[in-house]
Amino acid sequence: MKRVYFWSAKIQKRDLLLAILAIAIITVSIVCRVAAYENTVASAVSWKVANRVIVIDPGHGGMDPGAVGKAGTLEKDVVLEVAHKLKRLLSDAGAIVILTRESDSDLSGKAAGSAYEKKRRDLANRVAIANKNKADIYVSLHLNSFPSARWTGAQTFYQHGSAKAKLLAECVQAEIIKLLKNTDRQPLAENFYTTRQTAMPAVTVELGFLSNPREEQLLRQADYQDKMAVAIFSGIAKYFAEADNMGRKK
Ligand SMILES: [Zn+2]
Repeated sequence: MKRVYFWSAKIQKRDLLLAILAIAIITVSIVCRVAAYENTVASAVSWKVANRVIVIDPGHGGMDPGAVGKAGTLEKDVVLEVAHKLKRLLSDAGAIVILTRESDSDLSGKAAGSAYEKKRRDLANRVAIANKNKADIYVSLHLNSFPSARWTGAQTFYQHGSAKAKLLAECVQAEIIKLLKNTDRQPLAENFYTTRQTAMPAVTVELGFLSNPREEQLLRQADYQDKMAVAIFSGIAKYFAEADNMGRKK
């Protein structure tokens, strides 16, 4: 009896291991299939950006560094890097992309004036670029900074009262949540000068908090910037797909 008992215990143990293995294989295959499906969905709609005029506005520049992290990271540098990466992705998919600044410069012009007047001119010129080019969407890039170091996570803001800007913000934020996996922040309505004055759906993506040391380190990394650019690109593509559907339903 004892031997039979050992034999059946062995069988049970083997069955259990096989069952665990089977569950693991099934789980991995489901996860892979879902990921592949989502990638297919993202690439299936990426052509939706073709021929769209997209203005990307990396905040600050030149004399104006924007927020400054404890490790010395400048907001103006990070947003410019991400803007260039985003431009490449969108251009490769056929979009007509205009950056409000291509390098470390501001848009206040040569005329004299107080710091306030220069800032005002800088922002007005960013708006003018979007409006003159009749952009389909305007995407402003900034970094957040708070006195407390505890806050983290990218967040997309949209112009209050614009249904299309809200949709764009929802699409971008959903992709940020999905791809970066480090925030559950939701899109928020706001009333910034640039998104208010631009004549098209306009959003501001705050890519993260420079005031959080861990997030500051992430924001400096090229691969994190790549991921951020992919998330925004994917959100923009999904926005155009959904906005077109909205138009058809109306
Ligand atoms: Zn800023």
